[in-house]
Amino acid sequence: MAGTRTPLALTFDNLGEATELERGTWPAGRPLGRHPTVTEVLPRLLDLLDARGLRATFFVEAINARLYPDALRELAARGHEVGHHGWRHETWSGLDPDAEAAILARGLDAFAALGLRVAGFRPPGGDLNPGTPGRLARAGLSWCSPAGGAPGVRDGVAVLPFRWPLVDAYHVMDRFAALRARHGDPRAPLDAGALRARLTAELERHAAAGRPGCLVLHPFVGADPAHLEAQAAVLDALAGLPLDVRPGGEIAVALRRGL
Ligand SMILES: [Zn+2]
Repeated sequence: MAGTRTPLALTFDNLGEATELERGTWPAGRPLGRHPTVTEVLPRLLDLLDARGLRATFFVEAINARLYPDALRELAARGHEVGHHGWRHETWSGLDPDAEAAILARGLDAFAALGLRVAGFRPPGGDLNPGTPGRLARAGLSWCSPAGGAPGVRDGVAVLPFRWPLVDAYHVMDRFAALRARHGDPRAPLDAGALRARLTAELERHAAAGRPGCLVLHPFVGADPAHLEAQAAVLDALAGLPLDVRPGGEIAVALRRGL
């Protein structure tokens, strides 16, 4: 029965070299616009989603509208939602209000230049600032997806949070070792088999809890073939659980209506 299914937003974060550019780890002189997460991983992911009849939200850094306009148009053409994830993945927590407003506007302009209407925002790093929801609303965005907290509506913007244990990168990246330790999870990264088992167990927990939330996968995690296989297995597991899987924007509409 549809009413007993727990809403789950299927989301993917990050694309291309944007984060490496922001962190200064992109080698000087290496050409832009041919990153393997776009040229190799994304087509595989889109085929995996098509084969399962799944639609997702792709939170991409808006610089990708310049670097990969065809890839973003294809996301939309294949039924997926494009969301705003900063310009180059600027760590959102602690940004001053003018910087927030400027990044939001610059990104929305770049998306609009491709004819993409973007309604959702996920803060790079996961944390909003106190004024962020109001600024999102003034920029014309209608929902956001930060780390933690309860689903609901803040300053006119639907909030559809994610939990770290439902993020693939949280379990496999060295940079999240300290965060894992704070959550009582092992400091050591999981291998692909353990990643698949853990995400599937967390999805079962999510379905049983009954509150809307998000699964967060990353194309860069899928750059490792074993991890891509784990992502595919997790997508397979969705069909066997009492979940209503949609792009986040569709769940956000229901949240705003108070459902
Ligand atoms: Zn991110």
